[in-house]
Amino acid sequence: MVALTQQVLRADSVSKSYWSKSGESKVALADASLNVAQGEFVSIIGPSGCGKSTFLQILAKLVEPTTGTVDYRGTGAPPEPKDYGFVFQQSALLPWASVLRNVMMPAVIGRSDRREAAGRAEDLLGLVMLPGIGKKLPQELSGGMRQRVAIARALFNRPDILFMDEPFGALDAMTRDDMGFELLSIMDQERCAVVFVTHSITEAVLLSDKIVVMSAGPGRFVETFRPEFRGSRDRDIVTSAEFRNVEADVRTALLERTTKGSS
Ligand code: ADP
Ligand code: MG
Repeated sequence: MVALTQQVLRADSVSKSYWSKSGESKVALADASLNVAQGEFVSIIGPSGCGKSTFLQILAKLVEPTTGTVDYRGTGAPPEPKDYGFVFQQSALLPWASVLRNVMMPAVIGRSDRREAAGRAEDLLGLVMLPGIGKKLPQELSGGMRQRVAIARALFNRPDILFMDEPFGALDAMTRDDMGFELLSIMDQERCAVVFVTHSITEAVLLSDKIVVMSAGPGRFVETFRPEFRGSRDRDIVTSAEFRNVEADVRTALLERTTKGSS
């Protein structure tokens, strides 16, 4: 486990309301507060429509909160795009650009550093276990491979924080399991903080230092878990009793709060 010391990101009492065409306001997210420490892997889990994506987008300054504040490393403001990478459920790669170009996309490229950027992109493709596929087009890849390319792209600028919004949600179950373990080994090398939105309890328990459970809409953060395992997080741990126990605790919290929270 990573030593958790310095605070990277802090959200205080963030809420978001949307106004419908008929002029009624709808609360999408209610009173969410969260601390993320350097190198920490935080998962947010909650029912569909509880405001997880809204919260992630507020953290990344892609959506303005109705109330509350986001502070990146004591700057008094949310992080800028250079400080984070973002991975969406669908990989959102540019279909006409090669895989290598897609990964290099975040680079601001002058003539001199093009080679360096291409080198970095090649390295990242190795890191996500797709060495040598830079010349291919996204359409030639499977869904799992496209998400790995999207992760490589998000890591391009060596971000301090990686935001991931159900990145494996569109993948089949087996690919999804593999991606979880691959992400663990990627994070071992990249060591940025991760804020990870998921529907999957197993995925959250496997990957996270901290799991935040949200109630049904309007979403509130209702419970926090800090899974710690004696063994390393590998394929064996998933079937262990201690892992199953944490899963059961998270599932209970989720079920209770989902029923109580919905109106
Ligand atoms: P989740 O990611 O947990 O499924 P979202 O954050 O996408 O939930 O959405 C939370 C609630 O806010 C939903 O009821 C959704 O319909 C509503 N919502 C999200 N974005 C908008 C928007 N741009 N305009 C109006 N309502 C929105
Ligand atoms: Mg969502």
